[in-house]
Amino acid sequence: MNSPPGEFGLRGQNLRPSRREVNAKRMSQAMASGNSAFQRSPLAPGLYLVATPIGAARDITLRALDILASADVLAAEDTRTLRHLMEIHGIPLGDRPLVACHDHNEAQVSPRILKAITEGKSIAYASEAGTPMVSDPGFPLARAVIAEGLSVTAAPGPSAALCALTVAGLPTDRFLFAGFAPSQKSARRTFLQGLAPIEATLVLYESPKRINQILEDCCDILGEGRKIALCRELTKRFEEVIRGTVAEVRQAIAERDLKGEIVLVIGRGEKAASDAATIEAALDRALEQMTVKDAASAVAEAFDLPRREVYQMALTRGKT
Ligand code: SAM
Repeated sequence: MNSPPGEFGLRGQNLRPSRREVNAKRMSQAMASGNSAFQRSPLAPGLYLVATPIGAARDITLRALDILASADVLAAEDTRTLRHLMEIHGIPLGDRPLVACHDHNEAQVSPRILKAITEGKSIAYASEAGTPMVSDPGFPLARAVIAEGLSVTAAPGPSAALCALTVAGLPTDRFLFAGFAPSQKSARRTFLQGLAPIEATLVLYESPKRINQILEDCCDILGEGRKIALCRELTKRFEEVIRGTVAEVRQAIAERDLKGEIVLVIGRGEKAASDAATIEAALDRALEQMTVKDAASAVAEAFDLPRREVYQMALTRGKT
């Protein structure tokens, strides 16, 4: 962004004229034919968090298109992606600013967006795909806008988490979205230990590069019989859902080099039976991989026991 601090430059001016012309032509054609999917109307000042497609470009609501067509300022995690989406739907950017706002500059850009809202502007924010703030930027910005007593509105729509939950075939009455597991092995195993006893369906995002490792950890920590659904490339051409136990899903992908985007949906855990021998065995297993404190926390959570009691037990098992 080259505009002076506190202001938004007219990013539309940077567009090559040919693209602007193309957009304007598309817009006027759509308007003329009465087929435009969106309506332009002035928006009240505030931040509009707009969900965008996770694969199929047509998975966007009419209201989201209206907001993208009408907002005074557009902000996006990836400006090229948003611009492309708007082109697909025939929405011209015109002379409106299109501002990059991502994990690395959100703190710097947020005050400028706040200032624009206090000056009466409407700002539409889209992350690269899906719903902003769901394992995506937007939270510091939304929190700052709320803290100033300004308006925050959502244009709800796609999110890979809900899309996966919908097709996984696992209970949806109670679920926990856990985002991405840590990439480092021991941290990932601790993370899974914490999730293991939760009596809710779990939803995790994962990279195809780490899918084999996390399934191996799921096998060790959640048990090979736990139900799981691996949901890949949702809403895209090669959408695939592999359902089964952890062991079955591991086997199904063992010989494959999985690519694309993946959500793991994991069936609910159960609080373990708390006889002394079972607790001690779990504690010994946890102590092999964790500090006394972490092991005590994980086991206390798993068996629904007071943490201090389990910590004392861990100390007496000869570890410090
Ligand atoms: N904000 C997005 C949302 O609402 O779903 C998520 C953004 S996060 C950076 C990207 C991760 O979401 C991917 O690594 C993958 O785990 C998941 N994801 C996104 N699109 C997906 C798709 N079409 N199919 C499966 N998983 C997807």
